[in-house]
Amino acid sequence: MTAFDLTIHNARTSTSDTDLVDIGVRDGVITAITAPGELTAATRTLDAEGAWVIPGAIDTHTHIGQLAPEYTHLPGLSEADNYAYETRAAIAGGCTTALNYAPFGQGSVVAAFEAGKAAATAQSRMNILFHGYIMNDKQLEELPESVAAGLRTFKMFMPYRGKEACALGGIGSLDHAQLRLAFRAIAAHGCQALVHAEDGDIVDYCMREQAATGMPDLASYEQGRPAEAEGDATWTALYLAELADCPVSIVHVSSPEGIRARRASGYRGASLESCPHYLMLSTASPIGAAGKVAPPLRPPELASAVTDAVLAGDIDFFGSDHNVWPAQAKPNLLDGRAGLPGIGLLLPLVLTHLVFERGLSMARAVELTSTNAARKFGLSGKGRVAVGADADLVVLETGEKTVHAGELHSAVDYSPYEGMTLRAWPRATVCGGRLVYADGDFTDDDFRGRILNTPDLR
Ligand SMILES: [Zn+2]
Repeated sequence: MTAFDLTIHNARTSTSDTDLVDIGVRDGVITAITAPGELTAATRTLDAEGAWVIPGAIDTHTHIGQLAPEYTHLPGLSEADNYAYETRAAIAGGCTTALNYAPFGQGSVVAAFEAGKAAATAQSRMNILFHGYIMNDKQLEELPESVAAGLRTFKMFMPYRGKEACALGGIGSLDHAQLRLAFRAIAAHGCQALVHAEDGDIVDYCMREQAATGMPDLASYEQGRPAEAEGDATWTALYLAELADCPVSIVHVSSPEGIRARRASGYRGASLESCPHYLMLSTASPIGAAGKVAPPLRPPELASAVTDAVLAGDIDFFGSDHNVWPAQAKPNLLDGRAGLPGIGLLLPLVLTHLVFERGLSMARAVELTSTNAARKFGLSGKGRVAVGADADLVVLETGEKTVHAGELHSAVDYSPYEGMTLRAWPRATVCGGRLVYADGDFTDDDFRGRILNTPDLR
């Protein structure tokens, strides 16, 4: 019998940045960290040759399995194969855990969660924690059952009204009265709220104004959902959440207005999530209608202000807000579906933009891409390279590599980052103690990740 299932030698970790270490893994857990050369007898060994070895990323915001009926005939975009495609893309990108939204709808949240869980159990190559949601009074009433089923986090929308909501396949926003009650109920169940913070009144008015111009470019679309809408909704959400003593994450923060609201509120139960696209893309990106997302990409000066805010410590963790619409779903800014792909690039983009271009420390990048999310969402084994931690690890390669959508393993046929240069990306990925990706190949495609929702998570 060997002592380890896997050993990784000569690893540079962000917690001991001078000396290299060897890491021993057994039964999915890190069981030893030693000076190089001290570990023996492993079934499988990997030499990091002095490269960074960091925790697998936790993507706090994904929509795997949120399918559009008109595209389910395309490879990777059906219920039978979407989790397989998108979780392979994640693994190749060094992301080992996704906090994925149960498929949206106005019906039973428990039913949506169970359907998502079945698909993920069969196909997911990574760990999945499902987020739930509350979009109407019935779903609020269903909260005790949702909690009993294992859900602990509930998303609520503020922007979508009328026609826009219908066009999104029935996503519904809560008004302030409903939000107030929902925060109280979520807090009473020991759970957490997630809020899409854009004020519906402002968005409604400004979108109508911009629609009248034909919405020719990303700048016009952005003016239809101005940063004030995010600021206004964030202030409201934080205020109501604090009064209810409800932990809340404002998801996909896109502008300094959302950040300002949290600073001003000072509510300690609040966290902010941002996405790489709000830092690295802008209304000046040459991607046209493919860049449609909500909240929208901001003008370059706001995107760089969000980057500065991240460096100043104002953002807690990152999600990709990965959506699986193909390019043809976005013919123009008026009618196209909102949402960008990005799960497989989350970690490489954060490292490239913040560590290699802006001098952020690797230790801080690890906090932003895994540790903080693990802490916030109760994933105690994750986000650390330490004895006793889950063996979800990434061995990084550094240099220069160009993004090509066709090489990302996703079913999505375009990338808004096409042609960009990455400075770091995974050479190997370990999930659940298994070497699942190495040097461009999926080395253990039979591996299935864990569904992390359990009723005793709280
Ligand atoms: Zn989303």
